[in-house]
Amino acid sequence: MANVANCKKCGALFLQTSRRDICDKCFEEQNKLLSDINKFVISSPEETIPLDDLLKKFNLTKDEFEELYLAGKFVKIGQKVTFVCQKCGKVVPIANKTNFICASCAKKLQNEI
Ligand SMILES: [Zn+2]
Ligand SMILES: [Zn+2]
Repeated sequence: MANVANCKKCGALFLQTSRRDICDKCFEEQNKLLSDINKFVISSPEETIPLDDLLKKFNLTKDEFEELYLAGKFVKIGQKVTFVCQKCGKVVPIANKTNFICASCAKKLQNEI
């Protein structure tokens, strides 16, 4: 059964035929953005790319990026894009992150609980 739903991104009504919560137009735009980001990172001559640069270049917020990341959209570039750990300030690939802290800080936190 298809439902009519409001697109989470632009608010337009659309026919929801899957569990996707954005309309076809936004979905297409998102796909294009994802392939642009992946292409940009993969073809960059730099060894690593800071996440902040990527966000600035593609006009994304950290939350938007996080959502896509958690949806598994950046697996291919996970080792090349880096972020600064919020706890220890170390630069680590996003593939090793948990909530923007590095794996070793995440482990420490877990041990403290
Ligand atoms: Zn939309
Ligand atoms: Zn850390």
